[in-house]
Amino acid sequence: MNRIAPTTELIDLHIHVGGAVAPHVLWSIAHEHGFKLPVKSYWEFCELVTASPEKVSSLGDYLDILHQWTEKIQSSPHAIERSIYEVIGKEYRSSRVTAIELRFNPMKRNLGGERDLDHIIHAALRGMERACLEYGSRAGLVFCLAREFDYELNEIIVRKAEKYIGRGVVGIDVAGPERHGIEFGADIDAYRELFARARAVGLGTTVHTGETAHTAARGVLAVIEHLKPSRIGHGVAAAASEEAMAKLRENKIVLEICPSSNLRTRAVADLAELGTILRRFDENNVMYTINTDGPYLLDSHLRGEFDLLLSAGHLTPSTAERCMATARAATFLK
Ligand SMILES: [Zn+2]
Repeated sequence: MNRIAPTTELIDLHIHVGGAVAPHVLWSIAHEHGFKLPVKSYWEFCELVTASPEKVSSLGDYLDILHQWTEKIQSSPHAIERSIYEVIGKEYRSSRVTAIELRFNPMKRNLGGERDLDHIIHAALRGMERACLEYGSRAGLVFCLAREFDYELNEIIVRKAEKYIGRGVVGIDVAGPERHGIEFGADIDAYRELFARARAVGLGTTVHTGETAHTAARGVLAVIEHLKPSRIGHGVAAAASEEAMAKLRENKIVLEICPSSNLRTRAVADLAELGTILRRFDENNVMYTINTDGPYLLDSHLRGEFDLLLSAGHLTPSTAERCMATARAATFLK
């Protein structure tokens, strides 16, 4: 059996609104808003907002598509409401995802302060509520802090997460490219306190790290030491370090593995290397889950991510079931 049964209900813990909205929906939103596009035809637009292998060979290339197009098109209350509504429905229809944590940076949806942040967040929550009512899904929003933002901006994002915690915001994340590991320099003590504050009010915490080969396991170790998140986005680089794996195991930190994303950004060389990494995690009792990251950007869906690993022999039906159980236990959804 190298496929997930079609009736299995799945849970996605790592999916970005910026990479999960179908091109035809982005196209429709762009036209509704009179957004000036550099292309005339729909097919050219699809090319623009998809991370095709010809275009993307690194995490930087991948993030550029988000920053240049999808995040801007999603930058209005109406646009974010429709985006989130569409993602939850689509993930249910394509993969029977019945529990989903959707992440985005609200401050990358307000046109540099032109739009009111609370209007963006309220609209996101409306879109989420409407889709959950229609499909019976459970969902929550995770706000991404940005490595490239100043501390003051990231602190505002955490304050907003705290404000909306009882209303559908369930956690915080840190996203953006790493260069040396953690990237917060002199602000590291402030970030340590910020994360402690978020945990104290009941927000879930996760951090993107260990996603690029050149940061190796340093990023994972630094994040565990300073930010103490309960989950880590990707973290594949930890497989090369006994110390990092021991820290993950001791602190019961769950990894959010996103296979197609890691293959496309060349975080891993190929599927065989990803298989070796998962085996290392199994041997070292490091807990991990399987997720999509950016299903439309990557032309994938959650069922496909599982099937990819199952058919390559990197997951078995029982380890796939274990990944799902781990995700159900580690979710920030109450
Ligand atoms: Zn991600």
